[in-house]
Amino acid sequence: MNEFEIIDHYFKNSTPHRSDVKLGIGDDGAIVRPPKNQWLVVATDTLVSGVHFFPHAPAKAIGHKALAVNLSDLAAMGADPAWATMSLTIPNINESWLNEFSEGFSALAKQYHVNLVGGDLTRGPLSITVHVIGFIPKNGILRRDRAQIGDDIFVSGTLGDAGAALQNIHHAPDFLLQRLNYPSPQIALGKNLRKIAHAVIDISDGLIADLGHILRQSKVGATIEIDQLPLSEALKSLSPTLDATELALTAGDDYELCFTVPPQNTTNKILKKFHCTRIGRIEQQSGLRLKKKDKTPYQLKNKTGFQHFI
Ligand code: ADP
Ligand code: MG
Repeated sequence: MNEFEIIDHYFKNSTPHRSDVKLGIGDDGAIVRPPKNQWLVVATDTLVSGVHFFPHAPAKAIGHKALAVNLSDLAAMGADPAWATMSLTIPNINESWLNEFSEGFSALAKQYHVNLVGGDLTRGPLSITVHVIGFIPKNGILRRDRAQIGDDIFVSGTLGDAGAALQNIHHAPDFLLQRLNYPSPQIALGKNLRKIAHAVIDISDGLIADLGHILRQSKVGATIEIDQLPLSEALKSLSPTLDATELALTAGDDYELCFTVPPQNTTNKILKKFHCTRIGRIEQQSGLRLKKKDKTPYQLKNKTGFQHFI
């Protein structure tokens, strides 16, 4: 197979065709039509073999994740995904790998009605750059720098699962491996947060690191109640071999949303519907404080790398 046969076979009709795409894969550029009265949200993320995934990770999982991490960025903006491009660098032509990879990508694209409209294919060390575009209504913008003193802090789903799988990739329970390999971008929650939340971020680098971005950019501080952190049964079952609290605070790759909600919205039924948990509060005093149930400070065991957030 040559380059063009690969594009035709594995990518050209692999995702849903959208009516706002006039011209997709096959020309020098794609032609798309933005909706009236909405802003476009643009995001991109690269996955590099050996850095973001194990070289021998299932190709289907790599295809899924390359799109999922990008959709997670759109979710954190409250956006409705629409179009994607992909720059794929592969060391050689391995048809079964390409087949699985494109299956993983297109299954997720179908779920969110994302049309792959172009890309690039080159030879080199395995790496995938995906670029996504979505829409938000003009009055529905969500940003990192809008947290306010007195907001409650929430997270969706459970934390630390992907990190736990990474620590013990060969013996991790299936549930945790799924969480690492097939993260679910929180698109529906993100859209629902437009009317409820002040500030939103997706957790790709770990709760402390990512909440830290909200705090610095909003010029506020926070306290997190350690015993409120949502932990999956699978993660809890691995303790005390693994330190679930530490993973929930510092491990990345979960792709849940962390967001702040003003007091008048904390009983909104969306929060329950999407399994969101209150974990703390935004405060005036800058920095991040971690508190135990008895109100005494929780000491992070692995402080390195996170000191400047505390
Ligand atoms: P060019 O020669 O202009 O750089 P290419 O030969 O790289 O274009 O690509 C031909 C067509 O295939 C273009 O429409 C491009 O957008 C599309 N394409 C290339 N690689 C991919 C890919 N990995 N996924 C989707 N579309 C791709
Ligand atoms: Mg060209």
